[in-house]
Amino acid sequence: MFPATTFKGKTVAVFGLARSGTATIDALQLGGATVHAWDDSAPAVDKGRAAGLPISNLHQLDFATLDALVLSPGVPLTHPEPHWTVLKARHAGVEVIGDTEIFAREAAAAGSRIVAITGTNGKSTTTALTGHVLQQAGLDVDVGGNIGKAVFLLRQPQKGRVYVLELSSFQINLMPRLDPEVGILTNITPDHLDRHGTMQNYAGVKARMFSSQHKGDTALCGVDDDWCAAIAERALTTGADLRRVSVVTDLADGITAHDGVLRDKRGGAVKAEIDLRAMPALKGRHNWQNACMAYGAAIALGVDIQTIAAAMMSFPGLAHRMQQVGRVGAVPFINDSKATNADATEKALSSFENIYWIAGGIAKAGGIEPLKPLFGHVARAYLIGQAAKEFAETIGSMRPYEDCGTLEQAVSAALRDAQRDNKPGAVVLLSPACASFDQYPNFEVRGDAFVKAVTQLPGIEMTIPGDAHAART
Ligand code: ADP
Repeated sequence: MFPATTFKGKTVAVFGLARSGTATIDALQLGGATVHAWDDSAPAVDKGRAAGLPISNLHQLDFATLDALVLSPGVPLTHPEPHWTVLKARHAGVEVIGDTEIFAREAAAAGSRIVAITGTNGKSTTTALTGHVLQQAGLDVDVGGNIGKAVFLLRQPQKGRVYVLELSSFQINLMPRLDPEVGILTNITPDHLDRHGTMQNYAGVKARMFSSQHKGDTALCGVDDDWCAAIAERALTTGADLRRVSVVTDLADGITAHDGVLRDKRGGAVKAEIDLRAMPALKGRHNWQNACMAYGAAIALGVDIQTIAAAMMSFPGLAHRMQQVGRVGAVPFINDSKATNADATEKALSSFENIYWIAGGIAKAGGIEPLKPLFGHVARAYLIGQAAKEFAETIGSMRPYEDCGTLEQAVSAALRDAQRDNKPGAVVLLSPACASFDQYPNFEVRGDAFVKAVTQLPGIEMTIPGDAHAART
């Protein structure tokens, strides 16, 4: 915790008393601001009062006395309708911001550097990978935001310190002065439309990653979807160094990895090459996109290519997202518990061959029907939880499968078969294509259970610590 000095002597209302809200209140008070804290949930208000927070009923407060309203990113700013505090703030002409905006102002005042990352998918992986590469390069780095720690729980900004921040679209919406030294936009596909209204609005928010950048900054923009491609064109006008990223086409200018080899190209000439196919935690085209982004950020911050390549090789991956957790002989065990729908599992199935695939839980609409074209990558399926029967019907006679009931059963059956078959490149993959709630409270607990079961296999060599919590990056 450290003081938010840029609000010294000002009066601020903070709405939303979860972890990031509480940290922001402490930081603002430490920095000499007068704070009015509130929440719509009575238990949260009671808890805040008991913890000594400066609770004051914002319904009764005259917002004209405020310098800013700090909103939790979970609270609707525009859709389905603006929260009542937002309406009051607008009426009083008071700016509505988030903790990340205050943090960015602190960072700017201290001379820290910000790498900001957004996109519909790949945010966390790109953020963790970028943080890892910069750390390996010996830079003074902190990683947080929408991943891991809330910004005011990171270390205090100081000159030269680099902050790698994952930003959700809700956080960006609360950052009127967002101007990162390196801005990253991975991709845009329909998501959160309940909170943004239309795709135009959603893409408009994401575009703000680059819109206030200037000469000396770097804009890394995916161009493999139409929304991002259009945003890249607009980013050309800011004066920042625009690097287009594609994992589909071989760009003449930009960072490409359409064939799994990252190529940094300027004016048609290849400046650098890194073979991503060798990186254990960066399997699959989607991860090549994340790797291109992290590469672009590291280059912009002056890291050399050899260091970047070595760091990518040692990246442990993010827990529960296609993370290799151990191996028995040549057979790796992959935890992709975060794959709670067919779309996410599609990425995992297309990344490997000869897959001993553990799937099931509570199926989403459509189940695993969309994965049929990838069943050729599956050696055998091990079905668990409520969806077992439905998934068995979808698989039919296309591949062998068995209903294992539990994850533990599935892990040992998969190892038994993988060892017996001895197929080249075989992997045991937990990628459930399902929610976990029939057997586990959430996907993290399900992934931890997988790690625990793998830890207990005969002949196992763990590639992450056996204690799954320690494995989180
Ligand atoms: P986010 O933080 O944006 O949710 P993650 O890095 O946590 O993204 O990845 C979540 C899932 O999204 C992964 O398990 C994978 O299936 C998919 N994914 C990751 N990176 C990408 C990408 N660049 N493009 C598309 N899908 C991706």
